[in-house]
Amino acid sequence: MAVTSVQTLSSEQRTAFWGLADVLIPATDSMPAASEAGSAEKWLDRALAARPDLVAPLAALLDEAAGRDPEAEARRLHSEDPDGFSALAQIASGGYYMNLKIRKRIGYPGQGKRPPFSDEAEYDLRDGLLDPVFERGPVNTAPAPAPDLVEPVAPLSFALSGNGDMADVLVIGAGAGGSVAARHLAEAGFSVVCLEQGGWENAGDFPGDKLEWELVADAQWSPNPNTRRHPADYPLECSGSPITPVMYNAVGGSTIHFCAQWVRLRPQDYKLRTLHGIADDWPISYEEMKPYYEQIDQEMQISGMAGDPNYPPGPAPLLPPLPIGPIGRKAAEGMNQLNWHWWPAAHAIRSEAVGSLAACERTGACMWGCPKGAKSSTDTTMWPIAIQHGAKLVTGARVREITTNGNGLATGAIYIDREGNEQRQEASVVIVAGNGVGTARLLLLSGGEDGLANSSGLVGKRLMLHPYMSVLGIYEENLEGWLGPWGTQLLSLEFADHDESRGFPLGAQWDVMPLGGPLFSLFRHDELPFDERWGPAVHDLTESTLGHAFDWGVGIEDLPHESNTVTIDPALTDSDGIPAPKIRFTIDDEMRANLDFQLARAREAHEAAGAVKTIVADWSQWGWHLLGTTRMGDDPATSVVDRWCASHDVPNLYILDGAVFPTSGPMAPTSTICANSLRCTERLIARAGLQRIPA
Ligand SMILES: Cc1cc2nc3c(=O)[nH]c(=O)nc-3n(C[C@H](O)[C@H](O)[C@H](O)COP(=O)(O)OP(=O)(O)OC[C@H]3O[C@@H](n4cnc5c(N)ncnc54)[C@H](O)[C@@H]3O)c2cc1C
Ligand code: SF4
Repeated sequence: MAVTSVQTLSSEQRTAFWGLADVLIPATDSMPAASEAGSAEKWLDRALAARPDLVAPLAALLDEAAGRDPEAEARRLHSEDPDGFSALAQIASGGYYMNLKIRKRIGYPGQGKRPPFSDEAEYDLRDGLLDPVFERGPVNTAPAPAPDLVEPVAPLSFALSGNGDMADVLVIGAGAGGSVAARHLAEAGFSVVCLEQGGWENAGDFPGDKLEWELVADAQWSPNPNTRRHPADYPLECSGSPITPVMYNAVGGSTIHFCAQWVRLRPQDYKLRTLHGIADDWPISYEEMKPYYEQIDQEMQISGMAGDPNYPPGPAPLLPPLPIGPIGRKAAEGMNQLNWHWWPAAHAIRSEAVGSLAACERTGACMWGCPKGAKSSTDTTMWPIAIQHGAKLVTGARVREITTNGNGLATGAIYIDREGNEQRQEASVVIVAGNGVGTARLLLLSGGEDGLANSSGLVGKRLMLHPYMSVLGIYEENLEGWLGPWGTQLLSLEFADHDESRGFPLGAQWDVMPLGGPLFSLFRHDELPFDERWGPAVHDLTESTLGHAFDWGVGIEDLPHESNTVTIDPALTDSDGIPAPKIRFTIDDEMRANLDFQLARAREAHEAAGAVKTIVADWSQWGWHLLGTTRMGDDPATSVVDRWCASHDVPNLYILDGAVFPTSGPMAPTSTICANSLRCTERLIARAGLQRIPA
C-alpha cells in the first residue's frame, strides 16, 4: 500500500480541521490534543493518503466550518450530518492513533510480530483449564445418526480427452472449492484450465501490519465488494436484503480474506430432517466425508488440537494449535464457571513454518489478508501444486456464460479477458466454483431464459448466509485484546444443536474474536452520545477498551428458505457489462429469536468471566458464508446437483463450492467445501472413463 505525502487540504481547510479535531480529541493531563500530538500535520497527511475517498467530503465540510465556532460546529455535524462527521472523525482519530508517539503513550504496540513460543499453546492451558470440558463430556448425548452406505469407487485408469486446445476439465473460480479440484485433477494427470476473474495477491500489499490498517479496513480493503470495488469485483444489488454477502475475488477466492476458522460439520448436521424433522438431510453422511476432511486437514496445513468431546473423533491436524492467549484464557474461565463447552480453535493458519511458507506472527489482521503469508489460503496451499502439475490458471478472466451443445452437455465457457476481449475455452468437463452467489449468477446467465441446470427451478434459491452478531466484553485487566489470530481463539458448541424447548429451530457456533487496535476499539462506542464519545471521553474510552476487550461472536445456522435468493438484476452490470446478481434475504422471526437467545447467553459468558461492561455489536449487515443456491440431493425435482455434485440436467457440469449445501450447519463452512470438493473430484477422477463428454 503506497503512502505518499499529499497536500490535499488547503491551509484554510487545515486550520478549520484542527479546530474541529481538537474538539473531538482535546488535551487532558496525560494526553495531547489532536493538533498538539508530535508531527500532527505529517500524520494528517498520512491519514488523508490512506483514505482518498474521504478527502472531498471533508474539504467541503471544512469550507463551511471556516470561521465558525469549532465546538458548536462539531456538535452540529454530529447531529445533522452523520456522513460528514464520520469523515472528520475517521481522519482525526486515524491520524492521531497512527502517530507513533500517541501509540507509545497508550501502550499499544501495533500489529507487530509476536510469534508464539514453542510451548505457549500448552502454557495457556495450564492449571487444568480444560479439565471441566473433559469432565462435562459431550453437550449433545443423543446417538449419532446411522451412517449411510458409502458407494465403493473402482479406480479407472484412463483420461478424458487430451484434445489440443480443449481442456479435459475447465474450472471456473480459483477459490476454496475450485482450487482443490484443480490441484487433484492436475496431480492425476488431467489437463486443467482454470478461469479466475481476479489476480494473484501479494502478501506485502495487505494492510494488516501497516499503520493505516484500521483506517482502510472497511474501505478499499473491506470484505464487502460493494465498498471495496477492486477491478476484479462485481457489484451486488442488495436493496432487498439487510445483508450484503462478503467475498474476495482473486486466486484463493474468499480464503484470502477469511478468518481461517476451521471446523467440520458434525454427523448430526448432515441429518436435520431425520433427527428433528427440520429442512432437509444431506444426501451424504459424515462418514462419507470423514476421510476427505482428514486429507484436507493435512493439505490445508491446519493447526489445532484433537480430543474435543463435542467434535467427531480422529487424528490431530498437521500442525500444533495456536496459543489461546490472554483473551482465550479469560473467555475459558467464564465458560468453566458456567460449565459450558469450549475448545482451543483449529485454524487454517500455520502455527509452524511449512517449507518456505511462514508461521503466524499473531498480528491479528487475518480478515484483511495475511501480510506474513502465514494463512493457509488456497493460493498458498493448492495452487502452487496444481501449477507444478501442469494446471493452467488464467487470471483476469471473467466468465460470462457456460456454453452447451445440442446434446445437453457443457462444452466450455465464454469469458472476458483483462483487455476486455471475448475469449472461449472448450473442455470435456466444466466445474463451477464461483461461490454461493457467483455460481448461481453464472448458471442463471447461461443456457437461455431459465438458466442452465435449472429444471428444478432451484438455481439461486435457498440462499443461506449464517447471520452473525457478537457481544463485546470489556474487562479491568489488559488482555492484549489485539493479539491474533483473528480467527478465533476459542470455539464453543454449547448452543450449536437444535433444542425443541427453545422455541426456534437450530443453534449457533460461538467464537472468541480479538478487537484490534485503537480505532476498532473506539468505533465500537459510536452509539454513545457526543459527550460520552468525544472530548475528554475519547481518552477514557481508549484507556478502558484498547487491549481490555474481546468479542464472543455467534453465527447462527439459518434455514434454506426458497424466498432467500440470488437472481439477475435487470439494470446493474459489472465493469465488463455482465449483469450483476441481486440478493434478496430476510432475517425472519426464527433467526432473530435464535440470535437474541445466543446473544443473551454470550452476555452471560462475559459476565461470568468478569466483564465490567458488555456491548452488543450487529455484524448482520454482512453475509459471511454464501451457501445453498444449487442444492445437492438425490431427487432432480428438488435439487440442482446429485450427491457427487454433478448437475442432474447437464451430466458433465459439476458444482464444487458452498452453493451445493442443502442446509448450512452451524459451523464455518470452508473445511466442508474443500473436503466435499475433494470427495467429488476423486470420484470424477476414478470414473473418468464413464463420464459423458461432448463429442
Ligand atoms: C471476511 C471473510 C471471513 C470468513 N471467515 C471464514 C472462516 O473463518 N471460516 C470459514 O470456514 N469460512 C470463512 N469465510 C468463508 C470462506 O471464505 C468461504 O466459505 C470459501 O472461501 C468459499 O469457497 P467457494 O469455493 O465457495 O468460493 P470462493 O472462495 O469465494 O471462490 C470463488 C471464486 O470464484 C471466482 N469467480 C466467481 N465468479 C466468476 C466468474 N464469473 N468468472 C471467473 N471467476 C469467477 C471468484 O473471483 C472467486 O475467486 C469467510 C469469508 C469472508 C469473506
Ligand atoms: S495468520 Fe493472522 S495473526 Fe497470523 S500472521 Fe497472518 S494475519 Fe497475523
